[in-house]
Order: sequence, then structure tokens, then C-alpha cells
Amino acid sequence: MTLFFRSHSRPRTHVTSTVFGMTTSASVPARPEGAITDDTVTDRLVEANVRYAAAFSDPGMDARPVLHVAVVACMDARLDLHAALGLELGDCHTIRNAGGVVTDDVIRSLTISQRKLGTRSVVLIHHTGCGLEAITEDFRTELEMEVGQRPAWAVEAFRDVDQDVRQSMQRVRTSPFMLHTDDVRGFVFDVKTGLLREIDPA
Ligand SMILES: [Zn+2]
Repeated sequence: MTLFFRSHSRPRTHVTSTVFGMTTSASVPARPEGAITDDTVTDRLVEANVRYAAAFSDPGMDARPVLHVAVVACMDARLDLHAALGLELGDCHTIRNAGGVVTDDVIRSLTISQRKLGTRSVVLIHHTGCGLEAITEDFRTELEMEVGQRPAWAVEAFRDVDQDVRQSMQRVRTSPFMLHTDDVRGFVFDVKTGLLREIDPA
């Protein structure tokens, strides 16, 4: 009897004491808090994938985007690129990072996108309220002081989102590796209204 009650009451007590509020099966053995959270989120994604795959049928596409466009955007969780741009599966390449900044690695992806997978247009999307407006290049120094190693990469922090979009457009247009630079456009996505505002390259 005691064994029965303990196996059910322990996880429940644990759940109510965390801020995450995750539902945990009573049969799941107690683990460190971080592990429970990580496992639970990832498990949920994997379960969702099983449902996705059950309804999925092979569209029979090849790897070349149907609309011949590559979209470079910030990784911000509030920006649902496909929904915001009316994109369907197979339409475009999406290249995302913190800020939607055109780094060397984005140039690498765009180069492969254009030269090997047939895209011609580039759409750059930054957004209002970006996390990169709240930090500075001092972040690299902070990291160095904490871990004893200075990152090789720039933080790419910015203060003026319009200007940063212009710089990103310029980086794409001036890259020697691009095949097509005649259709490179930049926008700021408003996370409050869902609207894009185009930035004049000037
Ligand atoms: Zn952002």
C-alpha cells in the first residue's frame, strides 16, 4: 500500500514545485529538474512528429525551391515565416540566425542556394523588438571573462534596425559568390501587427 501511494504522490509533488508546470506521468522516475524539462519538451516534439508523419504524403518534390527564393530571417519565435509570407512546403529556402544577420555562414548558404539549388531572389527580414538591439559587442568580452576564451564571431548587435537591414542587403549584393543580386529586398517585420515594412536600400 505504501509503495502504491509513494509512486503516485512523489511525481505530483515534484510537478507542483516546479515553475514549468509540465505534466509528468506518475510512472516516470524522478530525475534532475533540468533533465525532466528538456526531455519533456523534446518528447512532445517527437510525439508531434509521429502525428505529422502519419498525415504526411510525399509531395514528390526535388530540393530546388519552387519559388526560387531564399529568405534570411531572425530566429525570433514570434516570426512564423511561412504563415507571414504565405509560403507553402517546398517554396523557399529559409536561413535563420540571431538577428537575421548576413554572416559568412549565411553567405555560404545563399551561395549554395543560388548556385546549386536554383534560387534567384533574396528576402531579408529583421523585426521590431529584436534581442540584438538589447546587447552590445561587449557581450564578447563578457564571454571571454567568464570562460577564458573570446569568441571568433561578432555579436552583430545593432541599434538601428533599418540600418542593419540596409547593411545586410549590401553584404548580399557585394558578395562575389552570389550569382543573382538584382532581386535582394529587405524588410522589418512588426511583431505587434504582423506587417512587413520594406526598407529602402538607399
Ligand atoms: Zn530578432
